[in-house]
Amino acid sequence: HDLRNEDLKDLRELGQGNGGSVKLVEHLPTGTIMAKKIVLIDAKPSVRKQILRELQIMHDCHSDYIISFYGAFISDPNICICMEAMDKGSLDSIYKKIGAIDIDVVGKVALAVLEGLTYLYDVHRIIHRDIKPSNILFNSRGQIKICDFGVSGELINSIADTFVGTSTYMSPERIQGAQYTVKSDVWSLGISLIELALGRFPFAESSSDDSDLSDFEGTLSPSRPNPLNTLTREQRDKKKKRKSKGVSLQGGGMTMSILELLQHIVNEPAPRLTPEGRFPKEAEDFVDSCLLKDPDARKTPKDLLKHPWIEHSRTATIDLETWASTF
Ligand code: ATP
Ligand code: MG
Repeated sequence: HDLRNEDLKDLRELGQGNGGSVKLVEHLPTGTIMAKKIVLIDAKPSVRKQILRELQIMHDCHSDYIISFYGAFISDPNICICMEAMDKGSLDSIYKKIGAIDIDVVGKVALAVLEGLTYLYDVHRIIHRDIKPSNILFNSRGQIKICDFGVSGELINSIADTFVGTSTYMSPERIQGAQYTVKSDVWSLGISLIELALGRFPFAESSSDDSDLSDFEGTLSPSRPNPLNTLTREQRDKKKKRKSKGVSLQGGGMTMSILELLQHIVNEPAPRLTPEGRFPKEAEDFVDSCLLKDPDARKTPKDLLKHPWIEHSRTATIDLETWASTF
């Protein structure tokens, strides 16, 4: 029962990402509805085959908090990854549609992501590497699941070289070139939760008045991060004088170049759930502990499952199925 492209009928497009597109398809022999992610990979056939082999681990991932995997195949020059389709889409598209998400729902998101990350790491030693609202999916049954985790080292390498714009959920230690650990995922979760609760990406506003770097001609790669914190004051002043042609990031009508943003993440205090008092103290405290800049001080997903806000979210009676029916 290997998946073949000929057996899949396109229904509609679900979304576009940096690496490719995702389509809703029907598997004609079984009538199963799936999401087919098409990833353009500029790599040798041997590398493609290696990626396909590595992706097979996903067949063994079974959790209520992880998107189910149906199979993957090569369809030159692409790799197609077929997975469970989530009919309410990703949380970024949801908040862009309905506005800031209720903090009780955000609590359920935090719980689901921590459960998913703990499962991936404890059972398979997999680190997600790409936690962000577009990789947290929701369906009309009220389920929250994570997708697009880094199972294939070869796939990560192949995509990394072409990647530009989405390093924004990256932890300070990753930006500075340190090894990826589960704690880097925890940072990305903290940023994502603020984004959902505020209804906007958290970095845009806070840094509108301290743009000390407005332009950079280098190329950034997540596999080989630039030593950002080694720029000298003179270099920064020089760049300050040049006209900004920074990458536009959403929110507040301001623009920040990618380098500016990465510098900000490394050098400035982490964002918080603000304004003070708008959200429950426990939620504020949880986000603060996700966003400890020192990875040694930051907890693992498993430890954070014991946080009071998460325990509270676990028993909260909010009905996500009913919530899903409102949009
Ligand atoms: P990036 O390329 O920066 O990682 P992304 O996560 O948005 O961004 P894709 O992973 O290609 O890019 O996904 C594109 C969009 O398709 C997502 O934003 C999401 O809305 C939708 N999508 C992805 N997977 C599914 C799925 N299994 N079910 C329903 N919608 C999905
Ligand atoms: Mg994605």
